[in-house]
Amino acid sequence: MTQASETQGRVRDRIDTGPRFSEADAVRLNRLFRGTDTSEMLETLLKEGMAGDVAQVSSFGAESAVLLHLISRIDPNVPVLFLETGKHFPETLAYRDLLVERLGLTNLVNLTPDPEDLAKKDESGLRWSYDPDGCCEIRKVKPLAKALAGFDATITGRKAFQSSTRKTLPRFEIDTSDEQGRLKINPLIDWSPERIEAYIAEHDLPPHPLVAQGYPSIGCMPCTSKVAPGEDPRSGRWRGWDKTECGIHKPGEDGGDGQGPASELPPGFDPVF
Ligand code: SF4
Repeated sequence: MTQASETQGRVRDRIDTGPRFSEADAVRLNRLFRGTDTSEMLETLLKEGMAGDVAQVSSFGAESAVLLHLISRIDPNVPVLFLETGKHFPETLAYRDLLVERLGLTNLVNLTPDPEDLAKKDESGLRWSYDPDGCCEIRKVKPLAKALAGFDATITGRKAFQSSTRKTLPRFEIDTSDEQGRLKINPLIDWSPERIEAYIAEHDLPPHPLVAQGYPSIGCMPCTSKVAPGEDPRSGRWRGWDKTECGIHKPGEDGGDGQGPASELPPGFDPVF
């Protein structure tokens, strides 16, 4: 077990430079919280500092309000990282501000691309139109990787129903995007669409304004189009491109529990990005 999971309320300038969490830690946490109510699990984790320095990464998309609400009731000061790519719908930015105010979130962090990178690699601002992978790299992957270096764990909004392969995702896994051994926490992994809907209704959470306009999955404006009834909700993302991911959740990445791949972003998924 690493220092990160043994010590509560740790300081950041640790001497230990090894991975923060190990696969064994993730397995242990999955066992520890098996059957525990989502809210109770989050409360224990956050209040007892079991996951170290934690951030939530939110797209302020179609279903983001649920996780933001759950966390805001436990600790509204948990950092909420938002990738301000400079390419969002104005509605998304307004929705972000509305939720921040409504839920009393006190630690919104807007992650912006490196200006030098933008000047060098996307001076026209049109890179999305000929190289969306490169555009996502500059505007999402790099800023997030930089920000996450300061955290021990991230909370995601991924759910098992979003794809067949995602069904095997555990509540706790290790983020394999780098060598830091960050914990990835998926509190909504066992939530059904009905449960999400019921939670939204129960707490009167405002919907993203674009959902009613035919956008079930919302990303950056140039790369998101409307989806016709019956179409895969995810089909409006990077339409016409052989691309389903921005590079943050890797297609086929291991779920971290030894149970195989965690999959590309699936149909019906309101992605984090
Ligand atoms: S989703 Fe589109 S606009 Fe946004 S960062 Fe990726 S390629 Fe660029």
